[in-house]
Amino acid sequence: MTTTPAASLPLSLEFFPPKTPEGTARLAQVRRELYVLEPQFCSVTYGAGGSTQDGTIGAVQAILDEGREAASHFTCVGATRESVRERLAQFKAMGLKRIVALRGDLPSGFGPMGEFRHASDLVSFIRAETGDHFHIEVAAYPEMHPQAKSPQADLQAFAAKARAGADSAITQFFFNSDAYFRFVEEAQALGADIPVVPGIMPITNSSGILRFADSCGAEVPRWIRLRLQSFGDDSASIRAFGLDVVTDLCEQLRCAGVPALHFYTMNASATVLEICRRLELLPKA
Ligand code: FAD
Repeated sequence: MTTTPAASLPLSLEFFPPKTPEGTARLAQVRRELYVLEPQFCSVTYGAGGSTQDGTIGAVQAILDEGREAASHFTCVGATRESVRERLAQFKAMGLKRIVALRGDLPSGFGPMGEFRHASDLVSFIRAETGDHFHIEVAAYPEMHPQAKSPQADLQAFAAKARAGADSAITQFFFNSDAYFRFVEEAQALGADIPVVPGIMPITNSSGILRFADSCGAEVPRWIRLRLQSFGDDSASIRAFGLDVVTDLCEQLRCAGVPALHFYTMNASATVLEICRRLELLPKA
């Protein structure tokens, strides 16, 4: 069977590190199913404070071994310059070329903040230590980071990451595309004209998405929240509604000319594949 290349719109995929051997095997299968999308890169999250960092390295190595471009997320909260230097050396030795540089959030009561205060400090440090070796992604918050003093202060913090040497950004998930468009416009006005790739969260269950949104400061619009709640335990209706909402969002973003889409896969393939099928981003057999 011959295939034509997928997607005029570049895609990237995000995974979290599995905690068990069964989870590792399942994730390998999920990746195989998603590689049909020819992702630009696959990223793996990194636990601030340390608990899952070995799992991140294992999953990143597996992606590289599968011949795909990988990105490791890398949080600096609680880290020292020396520990970051060692990790960068490890990344280089693995052949990694892409990092998602973050501050991270320490679990409460974890201890001292470490030697890096903001993600922009980490970006500057990576550039100073490794020059242009890494493509550096940073986080962006169209609906404002929950700890920011004001939207303007958060935009300034984003611009500082771009000035420090970030190549591009991935957003927190959102369902309100106007917030994204305004963020990009205002960031550009501050001189931060790096590509800002929308982070897309598939909706597969209601309590999970509502809880997650509350914890990271993303807004689930009232009409979506009410609809999700009205479905109760009817998971088929939640899934059907979620597919419609998220596909429409992606379509709006694509029409507006976004540089790419980054999918928070939640280590599952079916919903992302269905959204991409509806967007005609799957390769034609
Ligand atoms: P920063 O950019 O440092 O911003 C954090 C806060 O500090 C913001 O409120 C900002 O306005 C403020 N700030 C920044 N610089 C300044 C300054 N100079 N002066 C004053 N205020 C400032 N977390 C994980 O633990 N692991 C992951 O793998 C992970 N991956 C993520 C991927 C994406 C795409 C996104 C969007 C988030 C991810 N997170 C992850 C969550 C992230 O770590 C948290 O949102 C964290 O609270 C902030 O990280 P940051 O890199 O955005 O920090």
